[in-house]
Amino acid sequence: MASGKPENRETALSQLGRESKAHFGVVNTPVYRASTILYPDVATLDAHGMPFSYGRRGNPTIRSLQDAICALEGATQAMLLPSGLSAVTSAIMVACSAGDHLLMADSCYGPTRSFCDKVLRRFGVKTTYYDPRIGAGIAALFWPNTKAVFCESPGSLTFEVQDIPAIAEVAHARGAAVLLDNTWATPLHFPALKYGVDLSIQAVTKYIGGHADVMMGYVAANEAWAPRLLDYHGTSGLYVCGDDCYLALRGLRTLAVRLKRHQETATILANWLKDRPEVSRVLYPVLPDDPGHELWKRDFSGACGLFGVVLKPASKAAVAAMIDGLTHFGIGHSWGGFESLLVPADILRTAKKFEAEGPVIRIHAGLEAPEDLIADLERGLHRLRSHTA
Ligand SMILES: *Cc1c(COP(=O)(O)O)cnc(C)c1O
Repeated sequence: MASGKPENRETALSQLGRESKAHFGVVNTPVYRASTILYPDVATLDAHGMPFSYGRRGNPTIRSLQDAICALEGATQAMLLPSGLSAVTSAIMVACSAGDHLLMADSCYGPTRSFCDKVLRRFGVKTTYYDPRIGAGIAALFWPNTKAVFCESPGSLTFEVQDIPAIAEVAHARGAAVLLDNTWATPLHFPALKYGVDLSIQAVTKYIGGHADVMMGYVAANEAWAPRLLDYHGTSGLYVCGDDCYLALRGLRTLAVRLKRHQETATILANWLKDRPEVSRVLYPVLPDDPGHELWKRDFSGACGLFGVVLKPASKAAVAAMIDGLTHFGIGHSWGGFESLLVPADILRTAKKFEAEGPVIRIHAGLEAPEDLIADLERGLHRLRSHTA
């Protein structure tokens, strides 16, 4: 935009990545579909003198989204990837080489763990899983060849908040990079690079897409890591099409208002659930008695609508009876869309056991009316109880 930098991030969301002048005044950058880019002559070709060189390397729709992400993240470079998981694996490939050691949060997204155990291992990169609440104590886990610390905060399914500044201080003192899967908070509620993260990872599929119809991820890098990110992306052939970038840009415009509502509704549901006799505890750092609340309050400016619930002991069949009869909650993977979801959570830990009194479920609070969601959950918990009794 021609005017100065917007002071407020919500204002920024409606202005980022727009180049109306280049598109006849059209507010949104249109969808470009391109493989070949034509050059006017050989001299221009030799001088790499066109704004775009080849479809895989970008087009105006792709660049609009990249520009918006860079501004939002305060990043030097942002590369788009075909899924959130490919953003996770790409960031690890950028940071690690054969013979290196990686420290991985024990609470990481399941497929992130599978990549470390099945693929990274074959390339000679060793992974050690660490307790997500370790903070500065992570220093004790460093080997001379530790090159990266991968964080995810709050953690998948169990929602532990990590002390990112403490971890970053230890990692940087030892020459290791800090990677963060920041999908839960989005850059809006946790500006990762400002807190010492080198490579900030986002599953755009979730809240930026926001409408359950886009698969995408990105990695945003600070100045030190931007060249390696650019090299990796440019040489590995990864590509995201303009149609999906258009949808992601559209989602970005309403990210702040959606997140506000997701957080409000999740907080209402979480507070209601924690007092229910069928519930042991709720895993949501927004709640003042959550073990991660203080860190969340210190570092985050908001939350999203995703949280966990530890039930009192109940059979698998009772939990299924509860979930199967829900009318406003879908049963499905993913989250971050406008719709509410509820799934049983399968927690895998290798560094430190996650102690749960009973089965764990994961709830995504969508944009529906909270009272309808509560009524649905109330009927569900009644089914759970009658099944158990
Ligand atoms: C969903 C998710 C991913 C992966 O995103 P996809 O687009 O589904 O590949 C990565 N990290 C976290 C924390 C997620 O929840």
